[in-house]
Amino acid sequence: MEPDRQELPPRSPEGRGLLSVVVPCFDEEAVIGEAHRRLAAALGTLPGMDFEIVYVDDGSRDATPDLLREIQQVDRRVRLVVLSRNFGQDLAITAGLEHAAGDAVVLIDADLQDPPEVIPEMVERWRQGVAVAYGQRTEREGESRFKLWTAAAFYRLIARVSEVSIPRNTGNFRLMDRAVVEAFLSMPESARFVRGMVTWTGFRQEPVPFRRAARFAGDTKWPLRHMIRLALDAVLSFSDLPLRLLTWLGAAALAASLVGAGLLLAVRLAAETPVGAAAAVAVAAVFLGGVQLLAAGVLGEYLGRIYREVRRRPLYLVAERLGFRTEGGPAGGRRPLSGGAAGRAPAA
Ligand code: UDP
Ligand code: MG
Repeated sequence: MEPDRQELPPRSPEGRGLLSVVVPCFDEEAVIGEAHRRLAAALGTLPGMDFEIVYVDDGSRDATPDLLREIQQVDRRVRLVVLSRNFGQDLAITAGLEHAAGDAVVLIDADLQDPPEVIPEMVERWRQGVAVAYGQRTEREGESRFKLWTAAAFYRLIARVSEVSIPRNTGNFRLMDRAVVEAFLSMPESARFVRGMVTWTGFRQEPVPFRRAARFAGDTKWPLRHMIRLALDAVLSFSDLPLRLLTWLGAAALAASLVGAGLLLAVRLAAETPVGAAAAVAVAAVFLGGVQLLAAGVLGEYLGRIYREVRRRPLYLVAERLGFRTEGGPAGGRRPLSGGAAGRAPAA
């Protein structure tokens, strides 16, 4: 399934190789100017390789899209994709990947927590044949204890339950070979946990250690609610543990009720009148009611996911494109398996 490349900017001549850098941006007006300066400076040092920067505005409510348009005006290596609303980081990244033409593609946050200066090292690893060079944080600065603790708990949970073992202390900051990008884009699911999906593709994946800086400016867009959502996505999309848990729970409940019934029978045989029978029944009823409700809840979670997937909606909608051969919009995101129009190309 070779995507239609006609709308993409030309690859660099004489096989110099093109590096794409995809930057999802949501309300980043405070950092985006500085981020672009540092990115362009770091990428300028890449020997023997051209680069493009694909900014994806993920429905920012501040001046981010205007600033990005200005940046695009003065820097022709910049492509801009403006989504029609906020779709979330993972879909913004997906949109960016579909618009990236590079032989290798780097994902990096806009807030300068991932130092652009590490990119040349990732490229070096890629040249040595590594398909995915992922940034691995050695330290975290300027993050609350609570954030550190929830992040640690998150990695422990994922490591324990999921089919793929997602490396610890990694974010989305990584370089991916074109083959990995194509594999990623061929995965049609709409619940897109980027890190898990990239790990799932296999190939040679190796860490590149770096120190994660504090956010340059602005606030994290990952409140606890989002962390829980991400953990749920990661668990439910990459593991069937909740379903299996249900089976164990059912078995345990069955065993417990058998033991209880045996005890009641013993008491009944030993004494004249059974003691506290009503209480026992009440406890059992509550217990079973709880198990059933939980069961319904877990089934509902999976059902909801199936429902979301079978609707086959476009993953994202583009409002505007700048810096591509065919500019304009709006158009829907590509559904690779549906063989629909490419997300890059305007519908008409
Ligand atoms: N982001 C996005 N859409 C969202 C939330 C975040 O595109 O709905 C971008 C954000 O602009 C940043 C990156 O994703 O470039 C990481 O977000 P953030 O720094 O808030 O997350 P954290 O570093 O705290 O995990
Ligand atoms: Mg951040």
